[in-house]
Amino acid sequence: KLYNEVQELKGNIRVYCRIRPFLPGENRKSNTINYIGEDGELVLVNPSKPGKDGQKMFKFNKVYGPAASQEEVFLDTQPLIRSVLDGYNVCIFAYGQTGSGKTYTMTGPDSPTEEEWGVNYRALNDLFHISRTRRDTFMYEVGVQMVEIYNEQVRDLLSNDGSVKKLGIVNTSKPNGLAVPDASMRPVQSTSDVMNLMQTGLTNRAMSATALNERSSRSHSIVTVHVRGVDLKTGATLRGSLHLVDLAGSERVDRSEVTGDRLKEAQHINKSLSALGDVIFALSQKSPHVPYRNSKLTQVLQSSLGGHAKTLMFVQINPDAGSYSETLSTLKFAERVS
Ligand code: ADP
Ligand code: MG
Repeated sequence: KLYNEVQELKGNIRVYCRIRPFLPGENRKSNTINYIGEDGELVLVNPSKPGKDGQKMFKFNKVYGPAASQEEVFLDTQPLIRSVLDGYNVCIFAYGQTGSGKTYTMTGPDSPTEEEWGVNYRALNDLFHISRTRRDTFMYEVGVQMVEIYNEQVRDLLSNDGSVKKLGIVNTSKPNGLAVPDASMRPVQSTSDVMNLMQTGLTNRAMSATALNERSSRSHSIVTVHVRGVDLKTGATLRGSLHLVDLAGSERVDRSEVTGDRLKEAQHINKSLSALGDVIFALSQKSPHVPYRNSKLTQVLQSSLGGHAKTLMFVQINPDAGSYSETLSTLKFAERVS
């Protein structure tokens, strides 16, 4: 079958695919993506099966080629961010193997210029900007939490003393209750507040790891933005929240090659990513039972998955031929939950 359709917007779930460029030193000729269409299509080529037989088409709500800028990507994300100020819960996450550009999309490269800012910076900036334009009718308060999930343990990344505390999750019945009430909540009022906060989070994350890059690819990092708005005329309040998630790398590890801690990490990652897939699949099927309880990840994100919440998944692709089988499995994950 040539045409594997990842369907049009189903409910409030949308899927954007982003193909990262070849990096300096990589061989541009070994490209597995040979077509990117205007309507969200891409064609993946199996490097060991040249010709039509090795081609598969996938379709998303959008596809961004390697030349797409951070700004371009954010333009299609912005409407979701804005709905947070109207009281919606929104979840945006990046899925893909290590090295496919998840962190680039969500945060940006190390020490980004303003042009290179990822979704996190742009989203918060936008929230401040819009709340200022509504100043005469609404008063907004914005608070941020930052946690990571590593081996099914939730850790606070914004504690004042730099300690990386382990935290519990509560199953909130209130739609906008806090899932991780003991994670430090920092009020933010400006972009510079946000920059400082991100720095604290990254530093704390580094302190809990022996090698930052190693570890960061095996934990999920979650920035949660809580917004409370008061209508200055009526006094009515509304709450919205935004989860910005940089998931652990989705690559499968070879069971014959890893043991001990590595195997345990891999099993935890595998379990939580499948749990996420199962939740989104259940939501897309409008299933009456949504299995949130199967992982810490889905428990923390519960309020922004399902119900009236809006979900956006960035499917990240490394175009190199060496990544073909991971790319195929990433695209299949996306296809199932779309
Ligand atoms: P991941 O978080 O999925 O492991 P990264 O975001 O760290 O991947 O990306 C891997 C490398 O590719 C980094 O050096 C990053 O700066 C670079 N990169 C990823 N996406 C892009 C892009 N769209 N444009 C330029 N460089 C990118
Ligand atoms: Mg990363």
